[in-house]
Amino acid sequence: MDAEASPSRSISTHLRGALSACRGAWVHAARLALDIALPTLCVACREPVDGEGVCAECWARLSFIAPPFCPKLGIPFVYDPGPGLLSMEAISDPPAYQRARAAVRYDDVARTLVHALKYQDRTDLAPAMGRWMARAGRELLEEADALVPVPLHWRRSWSRRYFTLIMLVNFYFYTPRYTLRHSGKS
Ligand SMILES: [Zn+2]
Repeated sequence: MDAEASPSRSISTHLRGALSACRGAWVHAARLALDIALPTLCVACREPVDGEGVCAECWARLSFIAPPFCPKLGIPFVYDPGPGLLSMEAISDPPAYQRARAAVRYDDVARTLVHALKYQDRTDLAPAMGRWMARAGRELLEEADALVPVPLHWRRSWSRRYFTLIMLVNFYFYTPRYTLRHSGKS
C-alpha cells in the first residue's frame, strides 16, 4: 500500500506535527518566563540585555580591528602605509611567530568579555566571540594546513570545566562560510 494513502500513517504524521507544535510553544513559553524571571544581563554594565551578552552601548565601545593593520602583529594603523609595511613594534622587536590577528582591541569592554567567558562560566558569549575570531583570522586560516590548539594545564582545565579555545573554535568551524568553502560548495 502506498504510504501516502495509509490512514494510520496520516494520523501519525498529524499527531507528530501537533506534538511538535505544542513542544515549540512550551519551549517558547518557558524561555519567555525565564527571561522575565532571570533576564540576561550585559556582561560589561549589568543592564538587562535582549540577545547575546552585550548591550548596544557597550557594543558600541568595542573596538573591532579592521584593515589597515600591521601584517605581522595585526596592530591597527591610523593610516594605510601601503602593502607589506610593518609596524615599528614588529621591526624593533620581531616576534617569534609569522603573523597574529585579534578581533578587537583588548580594552575595558573586551577584557570584561574575555574574563566573563574564561572565569565566570558565561559560555553564552562563545558563539559571538567565535564569530569575531572567525572573521579576524579568516585570512590566516584559509592558508593553514592544520589548526593546533595549545592545551591548558590539566589543573586549570579542571577548574574552568571546559576548554575555552575548543569551544570558540567549534563556533568558527560551524560558521556557514567555512563549512561551504571546505565542502567545495563555494
Ligand atoms: Zn552594557
